[in-house]
Amino acid sequence: MRVDAVAENLLIWYDAHRRRLPWRAEPGAPAPDPYRVWLSEIMLQQTTVAAVKPYFDRFTTCWPTVTDLAFADEAEVMSSWAGLGYYARARNLIACARAVMRDHGGSFPNNEEELRSLPGIGEYTAAAIVAIAFGRRAVVVDANVERVASRLFAFAEPLPAARPALRRLVDRITPNERAGDFAQAMMDLGSGICTVRSPKCMLCALSSDCAALVQGSPETYPMKAARRAKPRRRGTVYWIERDDHVWLIRRPGKGLLGGMRALPSGPWTDEDPGVAGAPMPACWSDAGTVSHVFTHFALDLRVLTTRWTADVAGGEWWPIDQIEQAGLPTLFARAASRAIADREQER
Ligand code: SF4
Repeated sequence: MRVDAVAENLLIWYDAHRRRLPWRAEPGAPAPDPYRVWLSEIMLQQTTVAAVKPYFDRFTTCWPTVTDLAFADEAEVMSSWAGLGYYARARNLIACARAVMRDHGGSFPNNEEELRSLPGIGEYTAAAIVAIAFGRRAVVVDANVERVASRLFAFAEPLPAARPALRRLVDRITPNERAGDFAQAMMDLGSGICTVRSPKCMLCALSSDCAALVQGSPETYPMKAARRAKPRRRGTVYWIERDDHVWLIRRPGKGLLGGMRALPSGPWTDEDPGVAGAPMPACWSDAGTVSHVFTHFALDLRVLTTRWTADVAGGEWWPIDQIEQAGLPTLFARAASRAIADREQER
C-alpha cells in the first residue's frame, strides 16, 4: 500500500465530490464553528444524516450559539430533541453547553484532552471537533472510517476487538495537513462508495491501493464477532383520556428517556407485567402492542386505554389533536398513535 497516496487521492476525490451538509464549511470558506461541528456530531451518533438535518436546523435556529443553548430551558431542549432517540445525548448536550460556559468562557477547547472531559464527548467526537473545527491533526474513526480502513488493509481481526488496531491503521494514513477534510472524506467515501453492502469499487478513488479489492471480496470486511440476540422486555403503557385530552407525565430526570414527556407506564420486565404500575384502578381496554428496539434490549409495550373523569395528581392534560406537538419520544408517539387509531375505530 502506498500510504501517502491514500490521503492524496482521497482529498482530490473529496474536493470534487464532497457532500454539502448544513454543518460543514463551503469549499474555501473558514473552518466551521466548533459549536455546529459538536452539535452535528452528537446528533449523528447512531442516526442518519437525513434524520439529523431538520433537527440541526431547528436547534441552530432556536439556539444559534453554545451560549444560547447553555441558557435554554431544559424541557424545551428535550422536546425539540423528541424523535431523534438516544435521549441521554440531549441531556449531555445541555450539560456540555453549560460546562463550556462555566469552565471555558463560552468557547470550546481546541484539544482532545479537554474536549473529552466535557459531558457526552468521547474519543471520536473530540477528534472530529479538533480536526474539522480547529484544523489540527487528529485521528477520527467512526463506523464508516472503520469499514474503509478494514477494507483498505484487508484487516481480518473481527470487531469490536479490532478497534484499537484499526485506529492505528487510520493513524498511518491520516495526513498532517487537512486532517479535517481527510476525516470528512473518509466518512463520505464510507457512506456513499465503500458501503456496507455492494461497495462501488469501480468509482472508488482508493481502488488502486485497496487490499480487500485485490482479494475480491471487500464486503466481507470488517469482520464481526457473532452477535448475541437482544433480550426482550414487556411493559404496559396507559392512555388516560378526558374531554379530548390525554394525561401525560414527565419521566424522572435520570434513566432511559429521562426528562421526556411521556404516557404513564408500568415496569418493563421479562414477563408481561399486566397492569402493575397502573396509575389508577380503571376499566382498561387493550388497544394493541407497539415494539421498539433500544440499544440493549427490545421492548413490547401493550397499550391500555380508559376514559377518566376525576382529577389525576401530577402530569398534565394534553389536547389529543395536538399530540404531535407534545415532543413524545418515538416509543410513546407510537403508543399514542395506536391508542388514537383504536379510538377512531370505536367512533
Ligand atoms: S476499493 Fe472498494 S472496498 Fe476498497 S475502499 Fe474503495 S470502495 Fe472500499
